[in-house]
Amino acid sequence: MSKVQAIWAIEIPSESKPGEKYRVQFVGDGARQPWYCECRSWRFNIEHRGDDVPRECKHTRQAAEKMRREGKKAFREVRPLGPWFEQLQEYVVSLVDYTKNGGLEAERLAKFRMDLDTFREERDKIKDSLASTDTLLQIYGDLLRQLSERV
Ligand SMILES: [Zn+2]
Repeated sequence: MSKVQAIWAIEIPSESKPGEKYRVQFVGDGARQPWYCECRSWRFNIEHRGDDVPRECKHTRQAAEKMRREGKKAFREVRPLGPWFEQLQEYVVSLVDYTKNGGLEAERLAKFRMDLDTFREERDKIKDSLASTDTLLQIYGDLLRQLSERV
């Protein structure tokens, strides 16, 4: 199993929906696949089977172009949130590979299904942490404002 590599993310503005953005990510040096996009075109792409057609969308192409022009400065590095995040990353790489090349057995598919719930639970824990951080930051700012009036 390959060692987990850094993830880089960039938001590409939607052309058809002003104000909306799609989040494109790539793993490792970005010179090769995989690139991921959250848009429907990438996620529901079924044309990419085999090695000839890459799984991509216009956002991953735009992101790759930006990467060529600006390098990694165009992207933010995503910090892994824990071992489960690295496992999630490996799973997605595997799933992309299965959609390209087939060969997924029923037993393995069932395991992927079960682990999706586990990953979602881990995500929810992070969301709770973020919500608590937001509360503290909000209070922090409010208290600073109150105190500033007295200094
Ligand atoms: Zn896309």
